[in-house]
Amino acid sequence: MLTKLTEQIDPMLVVKGLKKYFPVKGALGQSTGEVKAVNNVSFQLYEGETFGLVGESGCGKSTLGRTILRLTEPTNGEAIYQNKNIFHLSGMELRNIRQEMQMVFQDPYSSLNPRKRIGSMLEEPLTIHQIGLRQERTERVMEILHKVGLQPDHYYRYPHEFSGGQRQRIGLARALVVNPKLVICDEPVSALDVSIQSQIINLFQQLQDELKLTYLFVAHDLSVVRHISDRIGVMYLGQMVEQAPTDSLFSSPLHPYTQALLSAVPIPNPNVKKERIILKGEIPSPLNPPRGCIFHTRCPFVMDICRKEIPLEKEMSRNHFVSCHLH
Ligand code: SF4
Repeated sequence: MLTKLTEQIDPMLVVKGLKKYFPVKGALGQSTGEVKAVNNVSFQLYEGETFGLVGESGCGKSTLGRTILRLTEPTNGEAIYQNKNIFHLSGMELRNIRQEMQMVFQDPYSSLNPRKRIGSMLEEPLTIHQIGLRQERTERVMEILHKVGLQPDHYYRYPHEFSGGQRQRIGLARALVVNPKLVICDEPVSALDVSIQSQIINLFQQLQDELKLTYLFVAHDLSVVRHISDRIGVMYLGQMVEQAPTDSLFSSPLHPYTQALLSAVPIPNPNVKKERIILKGEIPSPLNPPRGCIFHTRCPFVMDICRKEIPLEKEMSRNHFVSCHLH
């Protein structure tokens, strides 16, 4: 993993006020509201780092990644990649940016076409982006298969012939074959056995070093995110409530939601006792999120102001941001 240089360099990606709302329609097709999947999220991503995104399932972290890549169109906001707003691009410019920004999906099997051989599937992105002649494309696929730890004869096989871990290697190969700079990893190890997870995480790290990649790494498992991330953003109900360098977040979590999440992470030392913070109530519906602080319906420290005013994001220590009236 490269050392983060957030003080010295311009960010590679700046996301500002990103919103993604999904319209909800009634039985007669009339609009009955909007699901606020991502609501006013801002963060920056620096070249060579891994920015982990965590939160409970349904908090909007996967939608955030997909919206940045425009696999789904944004409702509002900006995503500036190397001085270009991705949301304003079309045609050739969008295609060029998409070559530099790739995605690895959670379920490798459902994202692979069962009727196609691995080789032709991996050549497809090269054809779309008009990279190389036929022979060069085959050579490139062979090279990337080797990089992700697969064998040359795997080129001729079908997805069902592979294990879960091998399929995720194929998913990674498909993202990397066009030589991207930024990879959005959407829960890439969640569907794998624990024993395989660490192999795949190590592969992600090894390839990051070798290919100078930048990762936006979405996961709900805090231990995984801690292991791989330089910085972590914590999402709740479509909003980023805290973001900080990994060490700072784990040693001094500031937001009550982050504190509750961290309290549930097991410590591999039986002599260290930790009190688990159990949050009361269900996560509210993103169709009708609470006013004021979105966490106030479950927060153990809720105050009057929390029910009325949205807390602004404040920098409490270097690169450690939190949105909470306690701070
Ligand atoms: Fe809890 Fe209030 Fe902070 Fe929200 S703003 S997390 S309700 S203390």
